[in-house]
Amino acid sequence: CGVIGICSPGMKNISQLAYFGLHALQHRGQESAGIAVNQDGKITYYKEMGLVQEVFSDTVLQRLQGDIAIGHVRYSTTGESYVTNAQPLVVHYKGGSIALAHNGNLVNAQQIREELEEHGVIFQTSIDSEVIANLIARYNAMPMEEAIQEALKKIRGSYALVITCRDKLIGVRDPNGLRPLCIGKIEGGYVLSSESCAFHVLNAEFIRDVEAGEMVVIDGNDIRSIPYAPNGRKALCSFEFVYFARPDSVMDGRSVYISRRNAGRILAQEHPVEADMVIAVPDSGTVAAIGYAEESKIPFGEGLMKNRYVGRTFIQPDQRMRELSVRLKLNVLKENVKGKRLVLIDDSIVRGTTSRRLVDMLKAAGAKEVHVRVSSPPVKFSCYFGIDTPTRKNLVGALHSVEEIRQMIGADSLGYLSIEGLMKSIHMDGQGLCNACFSGDYPMEVPKEGNKFLFE
Ligand code: 5GP
Ligand code: SF4
Ligand code: MG
Repeated sequence: CGVIGICSPGMKNISQLAYFGLHALQHRGQESAGIAVNQDGKITYYKEMGLVQEVFSDTVLQRLQGDIAIGHVRYSTTGESYVTNAQPLVVHYKGGSIALAHNGNLVNAQQIREELEEHGVIFQTSIDSEVIANLIARYNAMPMEEAIQEALKKIRGSYALVITCRDKLIGVRDPNGLRPLCIGKIEGGYVLSSESCAFHVLNAEFIRDVEAGEMVVIDGNDIRSIPYAPNGRKALCSFEFVYFARPDSVMDGRSVYISRRNAGRILAQEHPVEADMVIAVPDSGTVAAIGYAEESKIPFGEGLMKNRYVGRTFIQPDQRMRELSVRLKLNVLKENVKGKRLVLIDDSIVRGTTSRRLVDMLKAAGAKEVHVRVSSPPVKFSCYFGIDTPTRKNLVGALHSVEEIRQMIGADSLGYLSIEGLMKSIHMDGQGLCNACFSGDYPMEVPKEGNKFLFE
């Protein structure tokens, strides 16, 4: 998911700004979009299934007037995909309302939910984020910052939160910093965003990342930092760099673009091959392919054309649709690949659908050899922190050796980036990153695999 928060009292059309911000975060979720605005503690909101552009009209945005706005684009990991599960979540309690938008996934949501239900709390959605909102509401007698801290003591998992209540905008990053969140400055106030790429359209100046275990409280031009859990094991999701984030974003001081290009270069060192042309699976493999080409001195070329109006294949609900959408999304440039030995770069192999289809298509178009190179290690473990990797039984990397996968996808050779290579591509020292889906080394205790369904 993607979240945005804007606080600038007195600014006209703050919902319009949130709308533009969400547009820049659209790649983080295409299922639903929503904006909530806060005017003197009174919260109005609108959310619907669909892309940001489809959900909001001028009329709707006009109706959303306030000094603070928060927004969300959703890609579901917990809770089915329907509109009641869209965010921001707005809950009313004695004395006020809270709007909250969450990127991440709680690992103990079910447990807290049952406890709260025993105390008579009624849940309206099936998403874990509602647990957070209800916990905060329970402590409503306290000042907002304290109520949130009380709630945070109970939850475990990954979360980047933007919350508005009373006259404040609040941002929170979990103690491991699993999901990103950064701060920008605009006229008369501040912006919070999952990714810095949204600052460009808002004309905001990048200030810094919210730290792992930090809460920031924004009230107009005033910003305060509360390090509520400063000693966690820093573990920003490395998959953000591999696939999820936009290349023009910078997270925890590292450019996503540079990381991907480094990953391509290191991949070329780890798995060299003789070939005529390096091609990418657009768009997510493009930057790494450029890095691979630079390092290997094999020319980069275009072999696949992407229909840019098709969403991300991963989001498709079943396998047949997923296969079809690969064809819909990508087509081969026959004239350019015929008779050539190709290196095909993709950012990741999850189920193996994409690479299998593409190798088929390239060979059918006359490619002499197809050497698949992947700019991340084999995905072997499920993610419990908000990236929708399937259960292990659907992860081709969990079930098969590299040689078996090579045979399954029909490639002439197959090479994955090593875990060390990936860590190095992001941070020279490889510190402060989560790589559990590749290594199994989770930054916190996670449910047993059999319970994975609880979080899907
Ligand atoms: P596969 O086809 O092997 O199941 O998936 C790999 C492809 O899916 C890659 O091209 C990658 O860019 C893309 N992909 C799209 N969405 C996601 C996602 O949410 N998680 C992962 N791991 N890969 C994704
Ligand atoms: Fe990211 Fe993988 Fe860690 Fe999940 S397990 S947070 S996808 S690095
Ligand atoms: Mg891809």
